[in-house]
Amino acid sequence: MVSKTIFQKIIDRELPAEILFEDEQCIIIKDINPVAPVHVLVIPKKPILRVEEASTEDAKLLGHLLLCAKNFAKREGLKNGFRIVINNGKDALESVPHLHIHLIAGKPMQWPPC
Ligand code: AMP
Repeated sequence: MVSKTIFQKIIDRELPAEILFEDEQCIIIKDINPVAPVHVLVIPKKPILRVEEASTEDAKLLGHLLLCAKNFAKREGLKNGFRIVINNGKDALESVPHLHIHLIAGKPMQWPPC
């Protein structure tokens, strides 16, 4: 049996997390190790490993995650902008193999990111 990821355990309420939003397709939680004043993760309930593993049938879900992220930003009044990041694979430092979108905001950022 494949063991559950941290995010699947949070979705299944087997691990605690600060859940800021939930609907039938995703949750938004506070990142446990924030890199900015606002750092949340938009996580689909469907356990897609990473963007690379998404399929055509996931197109609507992927769009939904982005819309949930921008709706969160609007609700939080992030008027100065925000950054959306998806880490895919080893070089990108993906650490949890369950697709998630980082939404980062609340301070001026740098570019390029690497
Ligand atoms: P990534 O490196 O893109 O896979 O991002 C994983 C993110 O999950 C990191 O920013 C971690 O700080 C965050 N994280 C890991 N465990 C937890 C947890 N239990 N609750 C909230 N965020 C977590």
